[in-house]
Amino acid sequence: MGYRDKFFKDPANRSNHGWYTCVRCGRNFRKGDVDIDHILPQSCGGTDEIDNLQCMCRHCNRSKRDSMDDSIADYLDNEIRRNPNKY
Ligand SMILES: [Zn+2]
Repeated sequence: MGYRDKFFKDPANRSNHGWYTCVRCGRNFRKGDVDIDHILPQSCGGTDEIDNLQCMCRHCNRSKRDSMDDSIADYLDNEIRRNPNKY
């Protein structure tokens, strides 16, 4: 199973009536229009694990490229979103 399928199968990542929200710009997109982004880029050792994946629109993903600038903030956001009862 690819990381894209893994992301969409995860219960924490269920769509909102078929819409997925970009973590960067907050706009909603159809499944076919979102990219599954590696929070820590693969080029920097990021894995395909579910806690390293986030939903981003193509525009935002392109502008992110392989920068690590947002990785720590994104990682924390993702952790909180996925485990709301822990925080
Ligand atoms: Zn976006």
